[in-house]
Amino acid sequence: MPEDIVMVLENISKRYHKNDAFVLKDVSLSVKKAEFIALLGPSGSGKSTLLHIAGLLDMPTSGSIFVEGKNIQKATDDEKTSLRLLKIGFIYQYHHLLQEFSAIENVMLPQLIRGVSKKSAREKAASLLSDMKLKDKPNSFPSELSGGQKQRVAIARALANDPLILLADEPTGNLDPETAFLVLDDLMQIVRSTGMSIIMGTHNYELAEKMDREFLISEGRLLGK
Ligand code: ADP
Repeated sequence: MPEDIVMVLENISKRYHKNDAFVLKDVSLSVKKAEFIALLGPSGSGKSTLLHIAGLLDMPTSGSIFVEGKNIQKATDDEKTSLRLLKIGFIYQYHHLLQEFSAIENVMLPQLIRGVSKKSAREKAASLLSDMKLKDKPNSFPSELSGGQKQRVAIARALANDPLILLADEPTGNLDPETAFLVLDDLMQIVRSTGMSIIMGTHNYELAEKMDREFLISEGRLLGK
């Protein structure tokens, strides 16, 4: 596998239950280092399903996933958990922040789980929050932040362990268009500066145009645009 390929999805098919129709049919995709990929398709077309499989949060019915050349089929649950922690950042449409922790603590947590010292984790979290324009909000709790600010914290959290690839499932789908544009702009800038790859599920064709490659999921197939 060439060195600049970070993730490969090979002939992925998915149905949730036996006898159900297939949501994904024979989907293959190679993601290069630092590549930005847009995943387009109407609601229900299978974007979340594909992102969850790429994020090792769900298993395909058939097909293979490789992360940095390692076949995930053979990985144990512990190895998958570790890959998710170290190599993959996930951003959902809903922020999923822990309400009882402050913004900076939410961004420190994945680092502490990885074994980073509290001091380093705090420094990194402060720097990421600052990159996401939340320099003056480290000690605010999610309930004290706006929708856009909460999503900015969730983005900082996804970046906290310097993942190889960021999987974003309509990350600004819950925000008004103006806020969504600003948050996405900062997200794209920070990700571009790190050399991370990103697969972003979106309804937004204008946003997709800014990515390196666009795909449409239609009737379970991945169509290049
Ligand atoms: P999108 O993200 O594009 O809106 P999804 O991947 O969420 O699409 O859904 C694709 C299809 O899979 C839909 O028909 C949806 O109902 C079905 N689906 C998603 N999750 C499940 C599940 N856990 N069990 C059964 N069907 C599901």
